[in-house]
Amino acid sequence: MSEIDEVKARLDIVDVIGGYIQLQKAGRSYKAVCPFHSERTPSFIVSPERQSWHCFGACGEGGDVFSFVMKKEGLEFREALHLLAERAGVALPERRRGEEDTERERLRQANEAAAQYYHRLLLDGEEGRRARRYLEERGLDRGTLQDFELGFAPAGWETLFRHLRDRGYRQEELLTAGLLTVGERGPRDLFHERIMFPITDLRGRVVGFGGRTLPSEGQPEGQPKYLNTAQTVLFDKGSLLYGLDKAKEHIRREGSAVIVEGYMDAITAHQHGYANVVASMGTALTERQVRLLKRFARDVVLALDADTAGQEATLRAMEYQEILGRDIRVAILPPGLDPDQAIRRQPDDWPGLLGGAQPLLDYKFQTVAASLQGARPWERSRAVDELLPLVALIGDRIVQAHYVQRLGRLAQVREAELQQMLLRQSTKRRSAAAVPEQPTAVAGTHPGDAREEFCLALLLRYPELREDGLAFSPELFWHIENRQVLEAWQGCSEVEEMAQVVPEELEGHLQRVSGIDLPPFGLQEARAALRDCVGRLKQRELEAIKQASSAALAAREAEDRTTEEELAAAAAAWQAGSASSEATAEDMSPVAALLRDTEIGLRLHQDSKMEQGEEDQRYIGAEKVENG
Ligand SMILES: [Zn+2]
Repeated sequence: MSEIDEVKARLDIVDVIGGYIQLQKAGRSYKAVCPFHSERTPSFIVSPERQSWHCFGACGEGGDVFSFVMKKEGLEFREALHLLAERAGVALPERRRGEEDTERERLRQANEAAAQYYHRLLLDGEEGRRARRYLEERGLDRGTLQDFELGFAPAGWETLFRHLRDRGYRQEELLTAGLLTVGERGPRDLFHERIMFPITDLRGRVVGFGGRTLPSEGQPEGQPKYLNTAQTVLFDKGSLLYGLDKAKEHIRREGSAVIVEGYMDAITAHQHGYANVVASMGTALTERQVRLLKRFARDVVLALDADTAGQEATLRAMEYQEILGRDIRVAILPPGLDPDQAIRRQPDDWPGLLGGAQPLLDYKFQTVAASLQGARPWERSRAVDELLPLVALIGDRIVQAHYVQRLGRLAQVREAELQQMLLRQSTKRRSAAAVPEQPTAVAGTHPGDAREEFCLALLLRYPELREDGLAFSPELFWHIENRQVLEAWQGCSEVEEMAQVVPEELEGHLQRVSGIDLPPFGLQEARAALRDCVGRLKQRELEAIKQASSAALAAREAEDRTTEEELAAAAAAWQAGSASSEATAEDMSPVAALLRDTEIGLRLHQDSKMEQGEEDQRYIGAEKVENG
């Protein structure tokens, strides 16, 4: 038994949560006013049988005793473990130290050392004076320079190289870290005479840099204004968002994230207290970035200057809305201003600008409408060509109908005609969605565990499933061990790296899950199995919410007594939901039982015989994945 299991076994979740908030008995469960969102009627349920909790109100979150304490106290897993272990009287082994450096760790350290070197030159160095003055003119204060560890790369071909070589870094390491480049005269610094923006991963570790030339005389011809670290084992620009490590908690709290283009835009926003802003670093938003953001944000607003807003690259974000499950909105800035300038000019206007953001599709309709001056037939046809595929991407029928109507008016085409065209575009999508739900059959004593662990095992075994796995919200996993492993996996681009990242107490769990026996799946089958399994986890979540939503509704409308009964019934149904199916497959191994489910999924997959391009859309609840 792991220490985590032991802590769970010794503590009663009702006692622990009851120590923080007042719980009231409701049938077999307990209820309370949710401590994580503001409400009058209790919709927060604790189940002693399942040793878990769930909010059936606005936040819809849930988990086990660890996730409650982490959330309530704002603790990391390891801290919560120490707290609860002490309370349960479980001794934790001493933390091992001095684990051997992996190559990645070395590369990270090299990047960090480079960041510090550049940073000192900017703050105090003679070389950095001009950059310092420039940033001051742009309104950045010293605290901000420190927060973002901005730096200055001096002139010279091997200034950084020498600095780091003296500190024991080898040339190959620095090349691999992306800090050096090989020129005609051998290795040399990638960056010189640039303002340096260290780019960090979710944990705030420097993985690469953006460098900006100083605007002025003296800069050699042909130098790009911005230069980034090239793709390295640590640095993959398309899956990072600048400033997210600093913004993520604010985003989580506010529910919304704002994406700007440039480093300076994000930094200025933060300095003015708008801390939910991240930068896409000048490129078109990628699907991976949206998936990353989805882990923290409900709403996403693109804050763009009027020039970039209409670009195709931006409009591609339409396709990501399905991932997000809601509109991506676009805030258009006053003409000629980028977010940095807009905020500096009128800091107080920023919330208003964002408030006026409109859905991307509305924006697109407007721009197309504006271009339809003469409204000749071929222009109207082009409008349909341009807009209908976007309308087809909308999952919600009612919303879609609205835009079909609108397009009909715009292009002067009968709605029926458009519906017909739409049908042709989306037949395959819908046939995939029409797959009937399978009865839930779960095995083992911990049904949640088995399914969650099966998902993890697939992710750990098949690196190709990375894109799929990045999309999963850790909250789909109700068990803290699995949630932590998933988060670690999402934060590491290599499985090998995970051992460094996962809390040490979970290493055993990670190893066990990595070792789960899987059938010799091909990639297609593995992906199908994963989607199937995650679909069920989502269903589990939805069912829990559905079962309680009627109770929440009743609670609002009816007398207190009904409320209590309804809520108790909902909680009971929630408990029964997994308890009953558990018993049915006792004699099967968890994986075998899961596969029985999955095989159905595989068969459906073969039946549907989709073309390759569409294979990703075939599963219920599966989000659209494409490799752009
Ligand atoms: Zn809540």
